[in-house]
Amino acid sequence: MRFDLITLFPRMAEGYLQESMLGQATKKGLLDIGVHDLRDWSQNKHKTADDRPFGGGAGMLLSPEPLFLSIEEVATPGAEVIYLCPDGETLSTPMARELAAKEHIVLVSGHYEGIDQRVRDTLITREVSIGDYVLTNGTLPACVLIDCVARYIPDVLGEEKSLTQDSFSDTFLGFPQFTRPADFRGMQVPEVLLSGDHAKIDAWRREQSLLKTKQRRPDLLEKRSTSRPSGKEGPQ
Ligand code: SAM
Repeated sequence: MRFDLITLFPRMAEGYLQESMLGQATKKGLLDIGVHDLRDWSQNKHKTADDRPFGGGAGMLLSPEPLFLSIEEVATPGAEVIYLCPDGETLSTPMARELAAKEHIVLVSGHYEGIDQRVRDTLITREVSIGDYVLTNGTLPACVLIDCVARYIPDVLGEEKSLTQDSFSDTFLGFPQFTRPADFRGMQVPEVLLSGDHAKIDAWRREQSLLKTKQRRPDLLEKRSTSRPSGKEGPQ
């Protein structure tokens, strides 16, 4: 799967994308990530890519020309071209699964007040937010999206099982986890996890997931009960 990120700040992304599991997935050839400096498509001698908004108002906007030229050069036919923006559709597990099936995703990072609307109206195929808050630019949101989507590409995670255990994999939050030592400063690991009885361990984990979801995100349970046939409750 190929990702191309177009940004004013390529160095912000490069470090993150080369480290840890994304870096390993790239080395194994499971992922191919290109990071591009928008200024390379600037047509003026100062290599600027922004301008003041028509109608006045605070801040600057990324200009249409370098964005059009860069997207036209980088996007292959059929590629999903995503603009990261606070007013887009919120990134979620179902969206990440869907995007992981694409062959090519181009990510456009905004800066200042955002990008010229004509780019959004013509070249952008999807607009995605990483949450209801505003950051200074879209490079970090683009890295968040790549990271989140890459986890659903086969073989990127060494242990595929963790996909089904993670928070939101089945609308439930994750269960508590412990590692050695079993007794740390007098704090004990729950007995059941040391029992070796996997049926009991699974039941305990399901119960803990449900409890945490009830306490922290009752909205997930409500959503689940309205979208499922009646009579089913609890993680399955
Ligand atoms: N004027 C814009 C608005 O009110 O929607 C906010 C622009 S923001 C300061 C600058 C850039 O950061 C955006 O163009 C976008 O690329 C990125 N950005 C900021 N918050 C984001 C979020 N929650 N999700 C995705 N991208 C975001």
